[in-house]
Amino acid sequence: MARAVVPVQCPGCGQRDVLWCEECEAPWWESPLRSESAAPRLDVPGQPALPVWAIASLVGTNHGMVSAWKDSGRRDLDVFFARAARRGAQDIASAVGPQIAVVPVPARRRSTRRRGIDLPMLLAEATAAGLSDAGVDARVTKALTIGSGEQRGASARERWRQASSVRAVPHLSVSGRALLVDDVVTTGATIVAAARALEVTFLTVSAGFCLASAPASGARGSGEVS
Ligand SMILES: [Zn+2]
Repeated sequence: MARAVVPVQCPGCGQRDVLWCEECEAPWWESPLRSESAAPRLDVPGQPALPVWAIASLVGTNHGMVSAWKDSGRRDLDVFFARAARRGAQDIASAVGPQIAVVPVPARRRSTRRRGIDLPMLLAEATAAGLSDAGVDARVTKALTIGSGEQRGASARERWRQASSVRAVPHLSVSGRALLVDDVVTTGATIVAAARALEVTFLTVSAGFCLASAPASGARGSGEVS
């Protein structure tokens, strides 16, 4: 239906009549790289840096692909990025260990409603599948939630803060090591907040995994990704 009305084009480079082109697809099949050195907020004084892997750098055509997926309703990219996450997770399996809880870093509820799909959950499931492919006992664990119900009378700023604050799901009985999964890592602040939120649980965050990481300085693509 959509194709009859709007011509398809590669969300990376704009090439017409393809869902995505080979050149823009290629970076997503590279092995994930450690990216925590580019994320300043992951560097918490007195604590060992949390290893965070990212498949691609959030620049150029990669940025276009992620932005189209997250913010422009390109739901055909769900399958694309799920495959990329599954593939990438296979490569980090040996570093992750024999058993791990795969914890999605939740998106804001408004974003999930707008998209009609829970993207962090999709990525977590793909990641767990990739780890399982490589022999890891990996299980998706919805250990984090976002936002609070109590917004009455709060200022706009406070409502924003509440809507984007991440916390542990109450009465969680799962224990052991956890891998946080997010779509992009920019400053690392979200990963750090998620790891902190899990401190009240029996889970210990041992690493993070995401699709793309922002480069250390200045070289971002145009436009922010939510
Ligand atoms: Zn392209």
